[in-house]
Amino acid sequence: MECQVAAAGQGSVEAEELLAFFRCRRLPYLDRVGPQEAKLPPDNLLEQWRRDRQALAATVFEQFPGERIGPGNEALLAAMAGGAERIYGGQIAAELVWESEEDAQFYSVWVSSSLDLLIRDPTLVGRSRRAAQSSYLPVHIRIGKRPKPEYELVLALQAELLGSLQGNVPKQGILILKDGKWHPVHLSRRRAQVRQLLQEYLHSLSQPEPPQVFMARSRCHLCHWREHCRQLNATAQPLSLLPGVTGSRYPLLQEAGIDSIEALANAQLDRLQAIPKLGSGVALQLQLQARATLSRQPLWIQSPPQTLPTTPVELYFDIEADPRHNVAYLLGLLVVEQAEGKKVANYHSCLAAEPREERQAWEQFLQLAQRYPDAPIYHFHGFEVQTCRRLGEQYRTDPRQVRLLLQRFVDLHAWVQRSVVLPIESYSLKNIARWLGFQWRLPDANGAQSIYWYSQWLETRERRYLEHSLIYNEDDCRATHRLKDWLSQSGVLHNSFGQNELTKVACPQP
Ligand code: SF4
Repeated sequence: MECQVAAAGQGSVEAEELLAFFRCRRLPYLDRVGPQEAKLPPDNLLEQWRRDRQALAATVFEQFPGERIGPGNEALLAAMAGGAERIYGGQIAAELVWESEEDAQFYSVWVSSSLDLLIRDPTLVGRSRRAAQSSYLPVHIRIGKRPKPEYELVLALQAELLGSLQGNVPKQGILILKDGKWHPVHLSRRRAQVRQLLQEYLHSLSQPEPPQVFMARSRCHLCHWREHCRQLNATAQPLSLLPGVTGSRYPLLQEAGIDSIEALANAQLDRLQAIPKLGSGVALQLQLQARATLSRQPLWIQSPPQTLPTTPVELYFDIEADPRHNVAYLLGLLVVEQAEGKKVANYHSCLAAEPREERQAWEQFLQLAQRYPDAPIYHFHGFEVQTCRRLGEQYRTDPRQVRLLLQRFVDLHAWVQRSVVLPIESYSLKNIARWLGFQWRLPDANGAQSIYWYSQWLETRERRYLEHSLIYNEDDCRATHRLKDWLSQSGVLHNSFGQNELTKVACPQP
């Protein structure tokens, strides 16, 4: 792959590219010259957010009507010259030229940006008619809950472009967020950052290969290049995919000459623990992870061994929530009972088919959990605990009842973290349970899909979307059950680990 689309110091850039560059140094490079056949279709949730943003923009337009314009500077200049109070849509393009203090190089970049809205600068009211008519502030509409640096960067970039057209660079911009409120943003501190980013982006485009970056769950999980990047990393730098090897730890390992999983697994622990800024606990954890990955076997780290309690009734709990509508819409519970030497598992769904029914779903869940007062409630990670606390406070549930409920919770993620190192790429429920051989009935389902399904259900009233959520939630509960069974059985089998000694146990063949 070769880019070199820009000589260093020159180029043409769209605002969205710069935004993508801010999020990930590799993303806009791949968008320009990456293998398009490897690009995944846009994620459903991203599409949903795009539609939400359009809907929010339409609402703003209804409340504050103005002049709609087409693309191009001419249309924009005409609307500005006409003194329109508000100008919606359109696109602005201008050449930005500056000399960098850093490398004493001249930069000249053609930058274009789609505009949501421009408003006449209210601070110029009372000044000369000409000044007031030709001075506008950029307004950016996003569905986020809080102002984010990247939103402010877009505003700062648009302000720079406006400066080229109207002769003064606005010092302020406005963000309209999900709550519909107008948030003023001071742009002075972002101006230098915009230029710095542009410089870095042009430099990146002048290179023959895309920048190497770390895959991070929060950044990559909805990206259309995630499979491509994962495969590249798996071949070129598999060490970077090892759990625990983060963007800051990877260079530390490399500097110490640890550039492969094998090198990490076989290094003297003393040598690893002496790596500056790594920390001795982290060094041990990384080495265990490398050894588990190479041997494809779990390594038990807990000493002395503990087993999870086995009781006549066990509950497995998982919540689906939709942050767009601010609702925990499905509280799923798998009730597993031992009867005559057999296990019987029944799934119950406490569903808020409408966001306003959340209280009902919560109370239904409480009653169900109360039916088995001695049963432990297994879940994976902290979300269920946080959500139950929030629901208890919001619906004024007796605090004692909530406290007793939470005392029964057993977090299997925490249990895994302190007990065992697994030969997997990440410690999500999906990865662990799949490694154990568990299969989800909807193979591509994930948390983002579940949010999308609920939104689609509310929009279209097509029952199949709710059905998907129910299947997905039930499978999550069943996967948690599978994990608990494996941990209990392995807990009986496993040897202890201590004194830097590694031990292996047989695991069910995935
Ligand atoms: S998958 Fe991650 S690293 Fe790759 S381009 Fe997308 S955001 Fe960047």
